[in-house]
Amino acid sequence: MNVLIAEELDRLHQLITWEMPAVPSPGSVAGEACVWCHLPPGDTAVDLVVGMPRRGCADCYTTRLAWLVSWYDWHDHVRACVSCQQARTCHVGRGRRALHERTVALASQRPLRCVSCHQLALASQLVLPVLWEGTSSDHLGYGHTLCMVRRATTR
Ligand SMILES: [Zn+2]
Ligand SMILES: [Zn+2]
Ligand SMILES: [Zn+2]
Repeated sequence: MNVLIAEELDRLHQLITWEMPAVPSPGSVAGEACVWCHLPPGDTAVDLVVGMPRRGCADCYTTRLAWLVSWYDWHDHVRACVSCQQARTCHVGRGRRALHERTVALASQRPLRCVSCHQLALASQLVLPVLWEGTSSDHLGYGHTLCMVRRATTR
């Protein structure tokens, strides 16, 4: 395996483990149940924490991986795309958002909500992926494009 890919998977793995429930069920503490769906994790389970019997089943793990990867794909596009940044129509950006939104419910994530006005991002509204720095880790968030443009110009 390519070194860069291994590093990238390692980083994504770290991000996924931050998505573990704060209060694990008794079975998942012993590694006998998936931390997310509480079913037996099976032969293809993924060990989540080094030195601790915390495991995720392959289904839960891959849906979370798809959620993260699709967010970063969308974010990478928007960072380089003036149309997306300036609230103009962009079919690529719209496609990346649609792909990401399909993973949200599967990965048990909350619906997209704007980091600026705290309202839900509706399908009819333009939205951007927004990375904001937390105290212990970065968080993947979203912002209405118009809210983010307003923020940038009043700063
Ligand atoms: Zn599971
Ligand atoms: Zn774009
Ligand atoms: Zn907003």
